[in-house]
Amino acid sequence: MRLPSISSVALALLVPALALQASPVAAAPGVVPSPEQFLGHKVGEDRFLAPWPKVVEYLRTLDAASDRISIETAGYSTQGNEMPLVILTSPENQKRLDRYREIARRLADPDNLSEEDAKALVAEGKTIALVTCSIHSTEVGSTQMAMEFAYDVATTRDPKMLAWLDDAILLLMPSINPDGQVMVVDWYNKYLGTPYEGGPMPWLYHLYVGHDNNRDFYMLTQKESQVVNDVLYHRWFPQIFLDEHQMGSTGPRMFVPPQADPLAPDVHSLIFRQADLLGTGMSMRLEEAGKLGVGSNMIFDSYWPGGTRNTAWWKNVTGLLTEVASARIATPMSIAPGELRGGVKGLPEYQRQSNFPSPWPGGTWRLRDIVEYELVSTRSFLESASRYRETFLTNVLRMAREATERGRTESPRAFVVPAGQYDPVAAAELVDLLLRHGVRVERADPTGGPVVAGTAGRETYPAGSYFIPAAQPYRQFLLTMLRKQRYPEVIPYVGGPVLPPYDITTWSLPLSMGVEVVESDGPFTTVDSRQPARFVPVPAVDWPGGAVDNGVGGYLISHRADTAVTAVNRLIFQGKRVYWLKKPLEAVAGSAPGDIWIPPGEITAEALGKLSREARVAIQPLAAPPAGPAFKVKPVRVGLYKPWVASLDEGWTRFVLEQYGFPYESLDNTKMRDGTYRGRVDVVVLPATEADILDRGEPASEEARRYWDPLPPPYTGGIGGDGGEKLKKWVQDGGTLVALDSSANYVIRLFGLPVRNVLDKVPEEEFHCPGSMLRIRLDPTHPLAYGMRPEEAAYFGDSPAFQTSPSDPLIGRSVVASYPDEAGDILLSGYLKGAKRLVKKAAVVDLTVGKGRVILIGFRAQHRAQPHRTFKLLWNALYLAGLEETTL
Ligand SMILES: [Zn+2]
Repeated sequence: MRLPSISSVALALLVPALALQASPVAAAPGVVPSPEQFLGHKVGEDRFLAPWPKVVEYLRTLDAASDRISIETAGYSTQGNEMPLVILTSPENQKRLDRYREIARRLADPDNLSEEDAKALVAEGKTIALVTCSIHSTEVGSTQMAMEFAYDVATTRDPKMLAWLDDAILLLMPSINPDGQVMVVDWYNKYLGTPYEGGPMPWLYHLYVGHDNNRDFYMLTQKESQVVNDVLYHRWFPQIFLDEHQMGSTGPRMFVPPQADPLAPDVHSLIFRQADLLGTGMSMRLEEAGKLGVGSNMIFDSYWPGGTRNTAWWKNVTGLLTEVASARIATPMSIAPGELRGGVKGLPEYQRQSNFPSPWPGGTWRLRDIVEYELVSTRSFLESASRYRETFLTNVLRMAREATERGRTESPRAFVVPAGQYDPVAAAELVDLLLRHGVRVERADPTGGPVVAGTAGRETYPAGSYFIPAAQPYRQFLLTMLRKQRYPEVIPYVGGPVLPPYDITTWSLPLSMGVEVVESDGPFTTVDSRQPARFVPVPAVDWPGGAVDNGVGGYLISHRADTAVTAVNRLIFQGKRVYWLKKPLEAVAGSAPGDIWIPPGEITAEALGKLSREARVAIQPLAAPPAGPAFKVKPVRVGLYKPWVASLDEGWTRFVLEQYGFPYESLDNTKMRDGTYRGRVDVVVLPATEADILDRGEPASEEARRYWDPLPPPYTGGIGGDGGEKLKKWVQDGGTLVALDSSANYVIRLFGLPVRNVLDKVPEEEFHCPGSMLRIRLDPTHPLAYGMRPEEAAYFGDSPAFQTSPSDPLIGRSVVASYPDEAGDILLSGYLKGAKRLVKKAAVVDLTVGKGRVILIGFRAQHRAQPHRTFKLLWNALYLAGLEETTL
């Protein structure tokens, strides 16, 4: 919005004239071209996708031409693409956006807001309604739809819609994964007219995380999540939020809320009621528009906080999911009546029922259908945003106040992150993450000294501890993120089984990051004076690390610290000498096997101070050099296997390797078959991949093959028989192979290891654990477990578990981690059915094979870059390939 719009009469005269021009046109000032005029194609036309730069260019054209539209840059993607936020509202509102944003912020965080002022703000404010499109980039419809929706807003003369724009500010993010939009459109166009038209890509549609980009909204590791998080909780404070997706092609045509069970326990029930209200408004408008096959109360639950709109529920934002049936990208699909299926939660048969009153009969399904369903539902979202303006604004205020009040009156009064943690880096990372989420964090006024708690929790908290008051609007978010999870046992019908989880069942940050968080009820007083402690807000976290004094005996870094590895990598790749000490240093409190020693004179104290700040890890000077057995740490050359069947775990592994400063080379099937990694890498890592994908490049099971779409010729096949033999030989000659999670199955088979996966082929009725934190016991004197505690939490997601056999003369083996002796001790957070199958089973096994080594890590040690506490197992496994025994 920079120029005034032309009158509707002039528009009516100009638009037909433009329509006659055959080629795409740039907008003249004040003229609003339709997407069709701009693109030369109708939105959603068969086999046509507007490429991402064109989508942005078109929206910018609308911005220039219409005073109902303005655009701000919300941020930039991983690969540097702009992420625009299109603001759709009346010209009058466009002039006062800062004011409306401020009102939304005050209502979301009504600290010290009087009743009178609150009423005035509700009366003055507008509904802020966020719409995000195509986070999953193959779900192409909504990005295309965004152009037509914005055009409709820019040009409408419908008095109803104009009134909606007075009451609401609709924020439209046409893609929250633009990198993927670029990839998917390019791939689709490349294979148009071939047998692979509309088929899958052999790589992820996000540089690192592909489909898991919608699993990152509590950990915020990816740029796109950070941008959306910023829009939601730091910049715009929307009250309602619609996230538009697509699903499979042979079920209902569209899913809208209400969502299915289970409901997350800590979410305010008004969130569900408001989502239901908005969803039902959509169903109604879709039905009126003759859009058949809309269902609700099925498939998608309301339980887990990892997705964009899900995380919002715990922060009093009503997030909605819609899912439209997919075509083959932009290629129409013909679906026969007999091919339509139920067989999902809430829709056992594909037939008329209360949550699915107008089944679609089958026929041709095309991109234009997706666009039209989304146009109607997005329009309905705007309509409801206007109609219930006062309700949404009042309820955000109500939920924020209730949360704050409960934090004041119920237990706990505060979550405390005590100073002096086992891993101070991870503790700082956790607090920093909460701050980025918009949580209020405090610290006792440092002049008051340590703090005493009256009841519950610890007796005293050392100076420097973080206090997170429960009395704040995001209290529910704290409850869910800082506690352990117990999956709710919902029985869908009398005599029925417990509803199985749709997705993962744990997200407890203290467990996954290995940070102690204490629930405490106060009242807090100072130790000395016993006066009430004074708390001050913490705007930013104090990171460990800083100036380093000169160390005559060299310098020590604790192996415990999350980013110790970042510092070590920086040093060894600069050619500096670094050692791991096998024995703890008596002179140093808390020293443990594996502590990292840098000899004196290797690097200046000043340079180490800089490194300490940058890696955010403490580096301690030593008065005397250590003596005794040690390992010299050498730079290792890492090869990371990359299957053509795009692997999420492969992408996440690449991401964490880069984050912690490990250089690596991706090894595709061609390199694996040719064995060209020999002499070039010291360690090969296989990310979690099923055995048949590794071996043959395609799944074997009938179930998996139902959804299997072959890749084009350069991307077919797997490591193959030859590649497997070469890998074996390479290990026997001294290579180190690290198999993560499910890829252990392939490695056990390939090498004939004396290890069996006891969960192989065990049916889901007997064992089920789709994503939980389990207790493991470790041997911290084994170099693989350096820096770990004797007991840790490991993220287990349909992972293997190992039965080992006594070693034979050719294969030595050590069990480095295993599950507890009692079934009841295994589950820490989430859902675990059939725990007894894990009792005493090995979780991490280190095997010597010939001159080389095979390491099986039987769970997701680096899953989605979340379980910081177990990253170390992977890092240690990589370093093992280059450790040299020595005596200091
Ligand atoms: Zn999706």
